[in-house]
Amino acid sequence: MDIELIELFPNSTKFVLTDITLAFANTIRRITLAEVPTLIIEDVYVLKNTSPLFDEFIAHRLGLVPLKYDEDILELNFREDCDCGGIGCNLCTVTLTLSKETDDQTTSIVYSGDLISLQSGVKPISDNIPIVKLGPNQSLELECMAQLGRGKEHAKWQPVSAIAYQEFPIPEIDQEKCNNCLACIDICYRGVFQKVGNSVKVVNPLRCTICKHCKSACEPGAITIGYDASKTIFSFETNGGQEISSLLVNAGEILIAKIEEFKNELETTIIEEKEKSE
Ligand SMILES: [Zn+2]
Repeated sequence: MDIELIELFPNSTKFVLTDITLAFANTIRRITLAEVPTLIIEDVYVLKNTSPLFDEFIAHRLGLVPLKYDEDILELNFREDCDCGGIGCNLCTVTLTLSKETDDQTTSIVYSGDLISLQSGVKPISDNIPIVKLGPNQSLELECMAQLGRGKEHAKWQPVSAIAYQEFPIPEIDQEKCNNCLACIDICYRGVFQKVGNSVKVVNPLRCTICKHCKSACEPGAITIGYDASKTIFSFETNGGQEISSLLVNAGEILIAKIEEFKNELETTIIEEKEKSE
């Protein structure tokens, strides 16, 4: 397998995987989405709420605030594996408090940055996510319990906001058939084609999503859209809670652990079947 990087930003990336099947790319996608654990607020204890929103509404919003969790500082158990039996203790739960009030002259917006973690190594990925606007003489006081979870339990634990793969596109123009009508440039919202000098050229082949709208719009039939079956384009965007590289490494380690478990179970079953037949 070969990996060729196309784009890398702090929260998103795009790369080409060579010599893998689409099924394997989908495995990586699904494990990243559903199996890589993240830390998210699970329970909210409302001590005081005179804001315009119901307790449930605020709790729901708090559950959607991505948290940054530094595993070098704090190592947490999954609640289902913890000795506390999942009730919540220092080993599996991080407490965050929030307290804000206004006087009779002011209004104020409660932001994610108002959440204060009682354990080091945990904080919201952004301080600027609005939770609720307090009017004059209103207050909000909460205790939030954040726990590790996986996207397969609830989408709030998904570490990525978008993750996708596609075939490696090869859009081509037959210059002998092209009559320079420019219909392909007008219809392609991805900017794959451009007029260069007196002819139309493919300038951004990797932006092609193989929708083939250009092919339908091209009356002389000058455009062909092929793909390279040995290559797959993989792209994703994180919610900012984890580094891109550690997210993929985590997904890889989970996949290896699953394959090991399957192999061990299979070997045990084969040995047991052999013993039965002897
Ligand atoms: Zn616990």
